[in-house]
Amino acid sequence: MAMAAVLNRVLRSPSSPSSSAIASRFLSSLSSSPTNSDPRRFSASKGEESKDRGVQWVFLGCPGVGKGTYASRLSNLLGVPHIATGDLVREELTSSGPLAQQLKDIVNQGKLVSDEIIINLLSKRLENGEAKGESGFILDGFPRTIRQAVILEGTTDIDLVINLKLREDVLLEKCLGRRICSQCGGNFNVASINAKEENGKPAMSMAPLLPPAHCTSKLITRADDTEEVVKERLRIYNDMSQPVEDFYRGRGKLLEFDLPGGIPESWPKLLEVLNLDEYHEDEKKSAVA
Ligand SMILES: [Zn+2]
Repeated sequence: MAMAAVLNRVLRSPSSPSSSAIASRFLSSLSSSPTNSDPRRFSASKGEESKDRGVQWVFLGCPGVGKGTYASRLSNLLGVPHIATGDLVREELTSSGPLAQQLKDIVNQGKLVSDEIIINLLSKRLENGEAKGESGFILDGFPRTIRQAVILEGTTDIDLVINLKLREDVLLEKCLGRRICSQCGGNFNVASINAKEENGKPAMSMAPLLPPAHCTSKLITRADDTEEVVKERLRIYNDMSQPVEDFYRGRGKLLEFDLPGGIPESWPKLLEVLNLDEYHEDEKKSAVA
């Protein structure tokens, strides 16, 4: 499915002389039947799916929840690209691409990057991927708005939307523990989390991700990782993501996943929920070998 062409089509004015091939792909993507409407029945196990393409998944989750980490691990496991719109924006900013100046102005003015620009960057990324023979994707950071979700749903079959969730007190602690090495740019976390069981929320512990000795004295905290800013970021995210979650929930595509802890606890559990235990067995075997 040439999703890039299809997304591009959405951006063009209705009167533009688009090729009939693109238009018919657009129409066929609209009429193709939805698959795997119950996420719990979804299986990406090898050979069990009759699809001739890689998975088309979306990752949702508030800033700091670690969705980039899990999306990236799954993309390696399943052999599909992990496409993070944040990376696309950053790459375009440092390039001499046609959108670079426009993006710089937007970012300097502290404005949000518009749906049009994001879709434009995403289409370009998918187009390049298709040209290289990529199949499937895991999207991270898109769709962020209900409008983006509607456009995406209208142009391609998203199999599954994984919504990563974490206790808010733990999330806050985790965000406040973030440190960056001012020399090598490495990301670390000094928070040692030991949250007690509370109002039905299970106890949770997460080990810090400490830097190597040569980075320790060079650690800095991002200026926007203060409690006030993090809380505001979460509030804005929740307001914006609620309708997106409802949208996918209504289509039976939303898989809610409460992170039970750090990566060592969460990763096997996530694979289990996704029916990917088999891959995990392979991983363990190759780790031993
Ligand atoms: Zn360093």
